[in-house]
Amino acid sequence: MGKVTGFKEFERQDESYEPVKDRIKNYQEFTIPLSEEEQTKQGSRCMDCGIPFCHSGCPLGNLIPDFNHMVHQGEWQKASWLLHSTNNFPEFTGRLCPAPCEKSCVLGIIEDPVAIEEIEKSIVERAFKEGWIKPQPPKTRTGKTIAIVGSGPAGLAAAQQLNRAGHTVTVFERDDAIGGLLRYGIPNFKMEKGIIDRRVAILEAEGITFKTNVNVGVNYDVKDLKAFDSVVLCGGATERRSLPTTGADADGVVQAMDFLTQQTKVVFGQDIKDQVLATDKNVIVIGGGDTGSDCVGTSNRQGAKSVVNFEIMPKPPGHRSPSTPWPFWPLQLKTSSSHQEGVERNWLINTKEFIKDENGKLTALKTVNVEWKMVPGQRPQLIEIAGTEKTWPCDLALLALGFTGPEATLADKLGLEKDARSNYKAEYGKYQTNVPHIFTAGDMRRGQSLIVWAISEGREAARQVDIYLMGKSNLPSKDMTGDLVAM
Ligand SMILES: Cc1cc2nc3c(=O)[nH]c(=O)nc-3n(C[C@H](O)[C@H](O)[C@H](O)COP(=O)(O)OP(=O)(O)OC[C@H]3O[C@@H](n4cnc5c(N)ncnc54)[C@H](O)[C@@H]3O)c2cc1C
Ligand code: SF4
Repeated sequence: MGKVTGFKEFERQDESYEPVKDRIKNYQEFTIPLSEEEQTKQGSRCMDCGIPFCHSGCPLGNLIPDFNHMVHQGEWQKASWLLHSTNNFPEFTGRLCPAPCEKSCVLGIIEDPVAIEEIEKSIVERAFKEGWIKPQPPKTRTGKTIAIVGSGPAGLAAAQQLNRAGHTVTVFERDDAIGGLLRYGIPNFKMEKGIIDRRVAILEAEGITFKTNVNVGVNYDVKDLKAFDSVVLCGGATERRSLPTTGADADGVVQAMDFLTQQTKVVFGQDIKDQVLATDKNVIVIGGGDTGSDCVGTSNRQGAKSVVNFEIMPKPPGHRSPSTPWPFWPLQLKTSSSHQEGVERNWLINTKEFIKDENGKLTALKTVNVEWKMVPGQRPQLIEIAGTEKTWPCDLALLALGFTGPEATLADKLGLEKDARSNYKAEYGKYQTNVPHIFTAGDMRRGQSLIVWAISEGREAARQVDIYLMGKSNLPSKDMTGDLVAM
């Protein structure tokens, strides 16, 4: 335990942000780290609980009390070792994770929880700065070859683990750059893309081969995958949900992912013909999740005239709802840094029609207020409230409605079964499809989820592949006490 009275003496501190007026002028990260002295104080707030609920709240099983203690002691290199023993990419989760660990932190029952995510980010950034994170190629190779399809966090975690086990790994990615949604979904202002490049350089130096612009099943024949001893499919859940409402074909109704991807490509000097821009427009973002929030931040950076957000669900309470007591993931209002930059948020509202002019251009949205009727034993019913119809001026409507599941192409071509939700079927913990040498992990298996889950599934799937190929594995699993493989 860092300091017996730490949690009584020190209040939680988070990194601060640059002022809104400055940060919306560019697409760079805008967080201001805590001083080292403050970081060690934050580590000392950890009570080293007998049963550390933070640890089980984390899908990776991160050794949270242990690295909190190391930070308090100023033992940063040991903290980095511990952190990397369960998480291949803490620089991604330290920036982007919604931190279920903090929601289940015991201190959170009576006080602000320990600033675990902040501590994680400080450790990994310090480790990179000090040069402690070095390529660790395997000492020997097994002669087994593995193809990984998709280079999001699941694919990258599986690749690093399998390569460290001595297998020869090739990652295929259909985009022009590595990273999956980290690269072309999440905006640069939430995570600068150099953070991905820095890690990919380590993976390449460890011996992993990356092939971009290779769309397996489209410009790469799935038959060629037979050359590999095993295949891990980490293609994500990329099938976008649409809004099949009158006028949805109007010029100005745009999928959020197209809008976000184009802007990131422009930040990196690509010339996008007819880029969709929010500049001087009345923008309405439909969908209140992470993607919607990213559209709000991007619209404000592009100089939108107004930014409005619609969400069909009720407004969550400002504090943890009694329906989700500690240590559960709380139903609670989330206000992101993008929301703070300027947006009018509306809940319990449904889009009825996209109105367009004679040239097919979007001019307005027609909405109605709704409520949810709960009948025990039945699915919640959406009820429209009569007399609440409203027309909103709008030149750009961004559809941030989530994803319905993975694309079917690979499953169809490889003869793989899907589950009831159209995800690629593989049992949790096993990750093996109905074709024995083909495994799947991340959003492709579990549906739209989180980076921390993608890394967790990539790691666990790697261990299962290793066992399939070698009969046993020294790769660690969060469900066992094994030899830790760390940086
Ligand atoms: C806008 C947005 C913001 C988000 N923000 C957050 C956040 O703040 N925090 C968080 O935890 N999560 C966030 N998420 C969710 C998170 O990004 C995903 O859960 C995570 O990236 C899933 O990882 P993955 O590796 O399974 O798949 P992905 O990241 O989707 O990667 C899959 C990759 O596979 C490639 N691929 C697919 N098919 C093929 C093929 N046939 N051949 C070759 N390559 C192929 C794709 O091009 C893609 O690069 C966000 C998602 C979006 C869309
Ligand atoms: S639950 Fe919170 S206080 Fe307890 S060990 Fe984990 S981080 Fe520390």
